[in-house]
Amino acid sequence: MYLAGKGGKASPAGLSAHNYGLAFDFVCDASPRPGVQPDWRESAYRVLGEESTKAGLVWGGRFGDSPHVQWPGYVSALQLKPLRVLVQQSSLADVWAHLDAERLSPKWRAANPKLAAELERLGF
Ligand SMILES: [Zn+2]
Repeated sequence: MYLAGKGGKASPAGLSAHNYGLAFDFVCDASPRPGVQPDWRESAYRVLGEESTKAGLVWGGRFGDSPHVQWPGYVSALQLKPLRVLVQQSSLADVWAHLDAERLSPKWRAANPKLAAELERLGF
């Protein structure tokens, strides 16, 4: 679908938050038969946008990718580049260790108060 220019937007390999498990796509069905026809209307994702933003996540509707929800701070290719370097030099496990240490830092918690509170509420 990416090559055909249809559906949601896509990033080059290694420069998508999906590569690091930091993003998910919640695609609505446009057909009563699940999995047959994705719904690409932005209005179908209004609640997803509201709830993900309320939780402190980044909703892709901000940049024309309504089904997309992701972790904050790693949206642009420039922001994702250090993670790509880390996975190339080490492993995805080290990327996750880096992100885990980062989210527990006072600086991250101050910059992401809604998500920090939500993670704490969920026991993380
Ligand atoms: Zn996505």
